[in-house]
Amino acid sequence: VGSEFSPPTTPPASASPYPWAPAPPARGAKGKRVTASTLLLIAAILLAVSMGISWWSISGSGGGSSGTVNLLPGGSYSTTGTFGGAAGTGSTTYSSVGLVKVGQLYETVLGVGLLATFAAFGAMGLGYVGAFGVFRSRIPLRITLILTLIAFVAAVLPPALLATAQPGAFKADGAAMFGGTGGGGSCAAGASPCNAFWGTAGTGGVTVSWGADVGWYLSIAAAVLVFVALMVLWSSRRQPFTRDELWMAAPHPSAPPPGFAPWPNAPPSPSPPGSTSTSSPYPSAGPSPMPPPPGGFPVASVPACPRCGAPSMYVAQYYRYYCTNCRAYL
Ligand SMILES: [Zn+2]
Repeated sequence: VGSEFSPPTTPPASASPYPWAPAPPARGAKGKRVTASTLLLIAAILLAVSMGISWWSISGSGGGSSGTVNLLPGGSYSTTGTFGGAAGTGSTTYSSVGLVKVGQLYETVLGVGLLATFAAFGAMGLGYVGAFGVFRSRIPLRITLILTLIAFVAAVLPPALLATAQPGAFKADGAAMFGGTGGGGSCAAGASPCNAFWGTAGTGGVTVSWGADVGWYLSIAAAVLVFVALMVLWSSRRQPFTRDELWMAAPHPSAPPPGFAPWPNAPPSPSPPGSTSTSSPYPSAGPSPMPPPPGGFPVASVPACPRCGAPSMYVAQYYRYYCTNCRAYL
């Protein structure tokens, strides 16, 4: 900490002559990819939470009793309520009350929802890592896009399926528990969960209302986030992604500047002043109207650091100017 930087007096023979100059920051669609990955992370958390909470509920009250039935993804629904002054909660499997079709729907919701959750988590992880330019091929970017697409479809499908198929499933099961006043083996006439995903009904002093619950809305919200992430990733798909592409995309001067000093203590350019050699890689170094100052290294043609004003160094390895005072690229 705080040790003064002192460059070696002679350049090493290696191909990387500037060991103290770190690699410049990667450029490309990093910001977009980080944004998309963050959206995917939030979506994956929402999806995971939605798998453990109610997606649909029906509440009723009347005659001194009130109760709510919550349908959850998987094999069981829960009941909470007050019946004749006694409060109670419970969990019951769909199949044990004859809700076979409804139970299959909620098993499907769990399966597809978990697929969406894992796809979103996978796309998020790959997206974050890929944003920082560590991959050598574009395959991880394609996998990220495919996983994001899978997550979107798998997040949209369960709420859409439930809203369209659940009334028919109740009807097929002849749901006794929702058959109006209770009892009986078939759906009641009039408005009921057998013919509407959302609704209210009142019969004989008992008011019942039903509709989508928090889990259903969370899955929709997650699908929207995944869709935005997919659009952001898609819009950046042609931008640099692999290490090589990022390197190629970094701003390069077409050639090192004339007479640049690659090393503070290096001798002046081997090309003597006035040389008109046509093989020189820096054509303007020959017939320059202003010859470099004798004896010293020419710093005038090197841009000064905008922070400290010191002359910068040209780092050929990265095609960038570097300030050794600030230890930063210009
Ligand atoms: Zn500086």
